[in-house]
Formats: sequence, C-alpha cells, structure tokens
Amino acid sequence: MVSRAAALEDPLRHRTVVRPVELVGVGVHTGEPCRVRILPRQLPGLLLRARDGQPVELGLAAVESTERSTCVAGVMTVEHLLAALWVAGVTAAELVVEGGEIPAMDGSALPFWSAIRRVGTQPLEAERPLLEVTEPLWVRDGGRLCAALPCPGLRVTYVVRLRDRPAQAVDLEVDEQTFERELAPARTWGYADEAEDLWDRGLALGASESNTLVLEGGAYRNRPRYEDEPARHKAVDLLGDLALLGAQLRAHVVAVAAGHELHLALARALAGQSGSDGRCR
Ligand SMILES: [Zn+2]
Repeated sequence: MVSRAAALEDPLRHRTVVRPVELVGVGVHTGEPCRVRILPRQLPGLLLRARDGQPVELGLAAVESTERSTCVAGVMTVEHLLAALWVAGVTAAELVVEGGEIPAMDGSALPFWSAIRRVGTQPLEAERPLLEVTEPLWVRDGGRLCAALPCPGLRVTYVVRLRDRPAQAVDLEVDEQTFERELAPARTWGYADEAEDLWDRGLALGASESNTLVLEGGAYRNRPRYEDEPARHKAVDLLGDLALLGAQLRAHVVAVAAGHELHLALARALAGQSGSDGRCR
C-alpha cells in the first residue's frame, strides 16, 4: 500500500512500485489499443521504453510536444499517469508502453492511482531531491500565468476560463488523501464543437463520453463528477507536467488559464533556478 505514514517518515527517498502493474485501454488521441506496464526499478528515475524498446529517462528534456497532451519519447498523454506516480512518491520505475500512448482509461488519473495503490510502493536507499521555492517566480503568456510561491508543502491553485460559463477555480494542498478524493477522479474535458477540428488534425480519435467530459452551450453534455471538474482536471495535468522535475516540490503553484506549454515553462524555470541562483534548493 502507499503509506502516508511511511512517506512522512521517509519523505525524501525515491520510491518504486512493489510489484509490476499493467493498464490496458485505448489512446484518447490515437484511438488505438495501447498498454502500459509499470515495473519496479531499483535505481532512481522513471525509465520509458516504447518505440524500439530503447529506454529514455523521463524528464523535461525528453518532452517532444505539448499539443493537447504531453508527448514524451514518442508516447502521448503521459500526464495523468505521471501525476498519479508523482503524488504517490514513485520516482523510480520502468514504464513499458505499447501503442504510442498511455491508455485513456476513464479520462482521469484515478485508474493509475488505484493501480499504484493496489500494488503498493516502497522506498529505495537513494535520496529524492527536494525543490523548495523560496522566492516567487512565474512565467506568463498574455493573460495566462503559471507561478510558484513559497509554501511549506505542495499547494495548487488553478483558475480555468470556460466558454459560455463562469470561470472555475480549485485550490488545495496536495497530498495522497486530497489527490485521491478531490483531483484524481476529474476527467479530461473538451468542447463538443472542437471535436471535429481535433479529428481533422488526427487528435482525440479515441475520445468519447466514456472518457471525456463534454461541454456544450455552457452545460455539460454528460454527467460531471464535480461541478468544477474542468478546473480539477487541469490541476491534475499540471501535477503530471511538474512530475517531470523528478524532485519533491515545496511550492504554492498558481495557474491561470494555463496549459501544458506554460506548465512545462514553469517546470523548466524551477529546474533552471535550482541550479543557478540558489533561490530554490
Ligand atoms: Zn489531462
């Protein structure tokens, strides 16, 4: 089991899964069958095996594109799996992917979270780096913003602007309990009238109402799990992108109308800062 007590006793150790776990489904973008196996690893780092089986160390440098999902080493839509791994403290594992995409499952991080909890995690000897924000830093693009402020733990505030309905905001301290209850179940979402445009671009081919919350004319077409499910899901995407830091993060991360590109820009700023001017440690 993922143990909060164990994590508190031993907060700065890399952790791995106790046993292998496998998830099988359809890629939300490719529409094709795909599979991911999460295997225990005794060395720090997440190792991704896809394509020709050559291992790629997961990290910010391995990101290839951010169009509608984060694509790393030829594998699309890594962010929900990475969010679940990161919050569970799993920073040592081998991820073996078939089909070029992580399965969408129900569109949320919950199936990954539940699978990791089912097999449990255990610490390695190796220490996990801590990234502690001691002065505010931010990245912005017009009215979009991603900021990291000093905070004793990990807190996320996410504001999402929606068409035809009021903006939504989620704000919470992230730990295993709040992630499981408040964030992990929140699904991928999209606007009904954007689907055709995405299909024309070869995206969202596996999207359906079984894995996507659909917004249409200011209302939800299928039943939401939370009234503010879009904001909660964006917070999951943010955590999945920050997971590429590999470190434990102490910060209050504030995102306004952001997306994968801005999440990753903040992560790069955090990573760069940690080595350059000493404001993070
Ligand atoms: Zn997502």
